[in-house]
Amino acid sequence: MSFGRLAALAVAAWLIPFAARAASYALPHEAAVPGGVKLLRLDYKGRVMPAVDVEGQRAMVVQDGEDWVAVIGIPLSAPLAPRAVVVHDADGRHEIAFAVGDKRYASQSLKVAPRQVDLSAQDLARVGRERVIIDAALSRWSNVQPESLRLPQPVPGVRSSSFGMRRIFNGESRNPHTGMDIAAPTGTPVLAPLAGTVVDTGEFFFNGNTVFVDHGRGLISMYCHLSAIDVKPGQHLAAGTRLGLVGMTGRATGPHLHWGLSLNRAWVDPELFVPD
Ligand SMILES: [Zn+2]
Repeated sequence: MSFGRLAALAVAAWLIPFAARAASYALPHEAAVPGGVKLLRLDYKGRVMPAVDVEGQRAMVVQDGEDWVAVIGIPLSAPLAPRAVVVHDADGRHEIAFAVGDKRYASQSLKVAPRQVDLSAQDLARVGRERVIIDAALSRWSNVQPESLRLPQPVPGVRSSSFGMRRIFNGESRNPHTGMDIAAPTGTPVLAPLAGTVVDTGEFFFNGNTVFVDHGRGLISMYCHLSAIDVKPGQHLAAGTRLGLVGMTGRATGPHLHWGLSLNRAWVDPELFVPD
């Protein structure tokens, strides 16, 4: 082998691991649609993390090798119009706009107990109080970069593709479905797909026994309808920690896990985060 060829091989051997190291952070799939995720690779290489806001909410920014990438959750209610983010970095303040594409979600008819659709005054008041608790959990911000943005499903089982579906309960139109349902028998362990800190736990009218986990930089996961909760607020969870058991508490038509992922307070499709 000639020296030149040997040198070329040595350079290639050096380059490959470097390239792998330079851009190795596991990002979610991009889908710039309502309920999806927009990835914005920022034109900035400084060492201090830029701050990015979208619609008045702080957005996730992660370091991918030398690059900073904003990972923006797009709410299901987002209009089909350009969406602007505001970036503050060492070079100043600038805006970046991106387009939101159309996505038609199907509707789904479900039958549940009448009292879970036409709420009594007492239940309405309860739901109102719970909304405040849920909003507080989803608003949590901790400045830790998640280990990864690819999350294994928290329980084995068939993943529904019902995220975003408009729901008709007992013939009446209600809010769209904001998470992924995974069918699994009651008592199946639910494992934290990613390290995080338990923000809150509780028993909610619609969601039943629920756990909220903060994974850092505005990514909050939610696990609903549990038959048992095994964790406490403030507890740090390593990836794979059992946080509860599958059940059908709250408004559920059968045992399953409802898995919600919120980014900058927008529910996004968990399917975008599941490894291929
Ligand atoms: Zn669900």
